[in-house]
Amino acid sequence: MDEAETEVLVVGAGPVGLTAAAELRRRGVGCRIVDRLDRPQPYAKAVGIQPRTLEVWEAMGLVGRVLDEAVPLLGQLAFVDGEPGPRLELELPAEVPYRFAALPQDTTERLLTEHLAGFGTWVERGTELLGLEQDDDRVRAELATPDGPAVLRARYVVGCDGAHSRVRRAIGVDFAGDAFPERYMLGDVEVDWDLPGGYGVRCLRRTGDGAPDDVLVCIPLPGRRRYRVSMLVPSGPEDAADGTADGAAAGEVAHGLAGGRGPDLADIQAVLDRLSPRPATAGALRWSSVFRISHRLADRYRVGRVFLAGDAAHIHPPTGAQGMNTGVQDAHNLAWKLALALRGVAAEGLLDSYHAERHPVGAEVVGRTVRHARGEADADDLTTVL
Ligand SMILES: Cc1cc2nc3c(=O)[nH]c(=O)nc-3n(C[C@H](O)[C@H](O)[C@H](O)COP(=O)(O)OP(=O)(O)OC[C@H]3O[C@@H](n4cnc5c(N)ncnc54)[C@H](O)[C@@H]3O)c2cc1C
Repeated sequence: MDEAETEVLVVGAGPVGLTAAAELRRRGVGCRIVDRLDRPQPYAKAVGIQPRTLEVWEAMGLVGRVLDEAVPLLGQLAFVDGEPGPRLELELPAEVPYRFAALPQDTTERLLTEHLAGFGTWVERGTELLGLEQDDDRVRAELATPDGPAVLRARYVVGCDGAHSRVRRAIGVDFAGDAFPERYMLGDVEVDWDLPGGYGVRCLRRTGDGAPDDVLVCIPLPGRRRYRVSMLVPSGPEDAADGTADGAAAGEVAHGLAGGRGPDLADIQAVLDRLSPRPATAGALRWSSVFRISHRLADRYRVGRVFLAGDAAHIHPPTGAQGMNTGVQDAHNLAWKLALALRGVAAEGLLDSYHAERHPVGAEVVGRTVRHARGEADADDLTTVL
């Protein structure tokens, strides 16, 4: 069997793994990055880019290319039962160097992949981590590659393998939390209406007792009147088709894009007809899907030589555009510490500061987005936008 060595193995080539690998390579660290998928997913899951993430990408030397392809995100227009609610302007103090921006996640991943290739490193696709073991010096990772089984010995492993992380399971980290029962539909469409461009649009309809029972969220994307729209899947017999409350098999994490029929243009048009405050026509559907949401937080971000980052460590409702942004900032925090540890110049405890600094951020994001999903957030809380 093929056995090889590297300094750091990054598992997962989503936005977080790509950031970790690029930052390690920028610092001259030997790094390999694997992903079980043969090709990247073509979806605009994460769209909202936070100013702090743009600062990180500036430090990485990537921000110019991001801003060339992104569009500014100006704020949010809210409508409740057809009536205009408070209009939020995403204004920031002058000393903050960047504004909010919108960029589909597949474009973000493409830009990060190109940036990583500039360091001579390419994602090893069709390569799945099956399991890992560690001792005092190394982590031994078992991989299934297109050429057959392989073993890679790494000084450190960074698990960026998403909500269903095998790295997290291999190191026995608890991922406590729960699933929201609702399923959401997602689509990438053009919406023809006379609402101003550059703003997210959130439309809500409530039942007699004030609880939201119909919702439409439209986030602008680069392109002509292009939006990523999300809405509730109407409850029906399909919900219980798999026999579980949250739609996941027992013991599985119910989070992210799920199986099931995505909405077609007629479905999206029907939601617009019900909820849009202005006459609106949907067209040019690029893709659609169904997704579920859970809220969970890893109890440890580090076990020995293995670290967790991104959705492998924290998942939560997408409100406020924080999942990918938080994960990118995790990876940025970790990479320079690993580089110093590998050079033998890290202070005692430096690697432990990764958990100490990033776990409270994950806890705050999970808590805040869950409070918002339960309707407990302040109306003017900027993180409720998107
Ligand atoms: C509808 C929706 C809207 C969202 N909107 C936003 C937003 O506006 N802003 C925001 O910041 N976030 C948003 N998010 C969240 C964001 O999409 C995630 O937080 C982000 O994708 C996490 O990135 P990641 O790299 O940690 O994990 P992922 O993107 O899940 O990538 C993990 C990768 O690991 C690979 N992998 C898994 N297991 C293995 C294995 N065993 N071996 C090898 N490879 C493996 C997978 O193939 C995958 O490519 C949204 C999410 C959803 C569902």
